[in-house]
Amino acid sequence: MDQRKALPHLPPVLRAMAEEGRLVHSLCLEGEPGSGRTDLATALAGAILCQRQQGEMCGECLHCRKVLAGVHSDITLVNGREDPDRFKVEALRQLRAEAHRGPSEGRAKVYILAEAQHLLPPAQNLLLKILEEPPEATFFILTCDNKFRLLPTILSRVVTVSLRPLPLEACAQLLEERLPGHALAEYREAALLCCGNPGEGEQILTQPQAAKKGRAAQSLVAAMAAGEPYGILAVATPWEKNRGDYAALLEQASRLVMLPEMQGQLGLSPAAAASIRRRLALAEERNRQNGYLPLLTALLSTKKR
Ligand SMILES: [Zn+2]
Repeated sequence: MDQRKALPHLPPVLRAMAEEGRLVHSLCLEGEPGSGRTDLATALAGAILCQRQQGEMCGECLHCRKVLAGVHSDITLVNGREDPDRFKVEALRQLRAEAHRGPSEGRAKVYILAEAQHLLPPAQNLLLKILEEPPEATFFILTCDNKFRLLPTILSRVVTVSLRPLPLEACAQLLEERLPGHALAEYREAALLCCGNPGEGEQILTQPQAAKKGRAAQSLVAAMAAGEPYGILAVATPWEKNRGDYAALLEQASRLVMLPEMQGQLGLSPAAAASIRRRLALAEERNRQNGYLPLLTALLSTKKR
């Protein structure tokens, strides 16, 4: 089985650094949820630990195989959203002490601090010194949804790499590589619905609920573009059962309407798309304030220029 496909390739900037052996020891990968930050951090850890040292991980040596299997003892992955206790000051103090002990089987030790936006300021302050001068053969890879949620003092000590959404055609190709066996039209649809965000595209191809939400967001945008109040009601009403689902629908519609490909399909001018986005943003805001959902759906139908 070709497991290499399970991890993404490094973006050119990181690849060049790895090839030339000048990877910085403190990095932050910034990208939207689903953009593949944790996978990329793992692929980068693989590149660091790979015996062949050829830039990207080879996927075949002992270290790469352990990385792919998720069992390499020199990689510590802490996800602050899933495991908030490990982002507490006491746990990080322990992590910091361990980092000074050096690798156990590989050439380096790699700490992946995923969802670093969940680090509270005292925890971030605790990491400042070690990020500035990591122990020899130790790498820190932070991931976050938005770098401005980290303290400026942290940002000044890490090199930030932002993961932009892929062009839709490239996203469709990547999805085909990762999940072979679908029709071309399905890859294209998934690439459009996920707005070029491959992690989300994979969910759309594999989870019926994600595909359903993507298609509903697309229909919502189409109904808003056509100014069809009944169409808007028909799409949005079933999502009113759950506030979180409703928020996710609005959020996805907001991203979709700004895609040039979507605007082209619907014959929307950029100004008309921006007006739809404003209405969606207003509904998102009211939803956060616990607004009555049927009213928010009605709000989506009101045209205001
Ligand atoms: Zn290797």
